[in-house]
Amino acid sequence: MIKDMFGQTRLKVNLHLHTTESDGNKTAREAADIYRQAGYDVIAITDHWKYRESGITCGLRILSGAEYNIGGGDGSGGVFHFLALGCRHAPQVQKEDSAQTILDEINRRGGLAVLAHPAWSLNTPEQTRGLSGIGATEIYNTVSDAGQSSRPYSGDFVDCCACQGRIYPLIADDDTHYYDGSDETASCIMLSCAPDASDQEILDAIRRQAFYATQGPEIHIFRNGDQVTVRCSPVSRISFFSNAVWARDRCVRGENLTQNSCRLLPFETFIRAEATDSRGRRAWSNILRL
Ligand SMILES: [Zn+2]
Ligand SMILES: [Zn+2]
Repeated sequence: MIKDMFGQTRLKVNLHLHTTESDGNKTAREAADIYRQAGYDVIAITDHWKYRESGITCGLRILSGAEYNIGGGDGSGGVFHFLALGCRHAPQVQKEDSAQTILDEINRRGGLAVLAHPAWSLNTPEQTRGLSGIGATEIYNTVSDAGQSSRPYSGDFVDCCACQGRIYPLIADDDTHYYDGSDETASCIMLSCAPDASDQEILDAIRRQAFYATQGPEIHIFRNGDQVTVRCSPVSRISFFSNAVWARDRCVRGENLTQNSCRLLPFETFIRAEATDSRGRRAWSNILRL
């Protein structure tokens, strides 16, 4: 738990992690211990097809969760991985179920359905256009840049979806497997939420985008009329992303930057921002609908 630059309490949260219950290399107790020592307040343990209830493990709060993956390994056929978070009861789903059936069941159980690593899965906006009930999507997935794959960043996917009017809360998480040490305690969300918030309150805070996603830097985005401003901890690059493929003043580079502003164009329908610090660690704002 930290106070951000505006004095707001933030919980440090990783919503995607695997253990020896599926294809992770550490037990839940070992994983929780590592995240607790790294200053996290909450993690979700999301083993494949195995729903874990909420609780406390090694002194760390666990948000209930699982990951339901369908479509095998061929991206041309439609690969979907959904996190089910905070369900009141375990979803009753099977590996033969369709993506929509899984989404419906997660929502029926009161959970948040997160589209995991769309870039890694080669998901297109067209593949997800007909799906309802996606509550959030990952913009960054650490393990997708660790070990044996290199598509961690889903910014192009979320921007193309936003061009179609579908704006999701943008989560960064580790998808920890403990493959090689590079997929743990790297990416998280910093959630504006009371420390004693219920599971439901945590889900609600995610749904209303009361967080920023980060690997270290702090980032906040504000709109005032036709001006949009980013405030952040010291970084070396601040960029804006919208449905404008090009516009002035959308990227600034330098040392110890803590603010950047841009003026909106009349046709812009959404905007978001990213910041990168001198060590290459990134932060992602949520999307402002204009
Ligand atoms: Zn996955
Ligand atoms: Zn996963």
